[in-house]
Amino acid sequence: MERQNRLLPLVGGRDTVVALGALYLALGFGTALVPTSHNESLITVLVVLSFISGSGLVLLIGGYRLPHTDIDSQFHPVISVWCLTGIAAMLVILGLYHLQPDTGLSEPVRSIAILTGFSSVAGFGVGVYDAQAKTHAHRLERQNELLERTQRQLEESNERLEQFASAASHDLQEPLRMVSSYLQLIDQEYGDDFDEDGEEFLEYAIDGAERMKAMIDALLEYSRVETQGDQFEAVDLECVLDDVRKNLEIRIEETDTELEVGDLPRVEGDPNQLRQLFQNLVSNAVEYSGDEPARIAVSAERDGTEWVISVEDEGIGIDPDQQERIFEVFRRLHSHEERPGTGIGLALCDRIAERHGGEIWVDSDPGEGSTFSVSLPAASDDSLARTGRIGPPAE
Ligand code: ADP
Repeated sequence: MERQNRLLPLVGGRDTVVALGALYLALGFGTALVPTSHNESLITVLVVLSFISGSGLVLLIGGYRLPHTDIDSQFHPVISVWCLTGIAAMLVILGLYHLQPDTGLSEPVRSIAILTGFSSVAGFGVGVYDAQAKTHAHRLERQNELLERTQRQLEESNERLEQFASAASHDLQEPLRMVSSYLQLIDQEYGDDFDEDGEEFLEYAIDGAERMKAMIDALLEYSRVETQGDQFEAVDLECVLDDVRKNLEIRIEETDTELEVGDLPRVEGDPNQLRQLFQNLVSNAVEYSGDEPARIAVSAERDGTEWVISVEDEGIGIDPDQQERIFEVFRRLHSHEERPGTGIGLALCDRIAERHGGEIWVDSDPGEGSTFSVSLPAASDDSLARTGRIGPPAE
């Protein structure tokens, strides 16, 4: 193959095809006009002329038009090789035919010109097809290389960002710990000496330091989703939701929340990250329930090889313009005074879903409630799908 590629330029490209075309055109006129031993009708002369010159014309026009086709010029020699191969193959056949006893061509020059003309045109057709296929394969290869390079660059830049966020949030923890502990010391040692304003300012400072700690911890967690996650295993989402209910027990009781969990499947994933994801969604549904106690329903639906798990609430809902943006880091729709939070919970859910090869999205009507849905890959031993308790049976 390598050797063939090195030989290709030697046979020339488009010029060879054009030259062959001109040669057959000339041969056509030459052989048709040179008188033969017997008298020929005008029709015979015209037929011979059109057969040989016709082949020449096809090669001439085809070769001339090659730069206007979608064939890459580096594959033009492929076409000329096929034309020459066609001629050579025909000459070999004629040679073998000639070797047979009692056989011979009545007008050898004309016959050879006509037959090799036809075979060169056939070679041209095959060559064009071959060169087109090679051009497409070459383009696909180049596109693949480009895609791979872009993917590598993206992965590298993602890794660098993760390292930066991880290092920055890790390094910020230490000075922040100092600020917090000295603020608490001031509060303990000198708190009684402050007047009302002083106490209020100190309270703001302590609150600010605590908020910053929560944000840095959340950012650190966010930056470690890919690098410090556990191995995937079959995870029973009913157990995950049991844990979520236990962890949020006090808030659920205090707020009179109704949390209804339907039959849930087993999915393939990281149990800790999935618990974190559903805890964020349920905790948000409690937080943004509005004036009434929260009513939350968790359900599952099969979608091909995935499960779509939905967490539905009847809370305050989300403005359509904001429904995509709430998944960005630190994007909050309320001030800290209105509702506490770090603004990183949904960004974390998005990243966890992404690590599982899934997606997260929200459907919401302001004032009516929101449904957050997450698609996750079904576990290979997903018994719910097999028994058909939820959705159609697994394929
Ligand atoms: P946080 O809750 O800490 O502000 P999140 O990333 O969890 O951060 O949520 C981002 C924003 O999305 C919230 O500030 C809130 O405005 C909105 N949001 C999240 N969940 C709900 C929900 N269930 N109902 C209404 N709004 C929500």
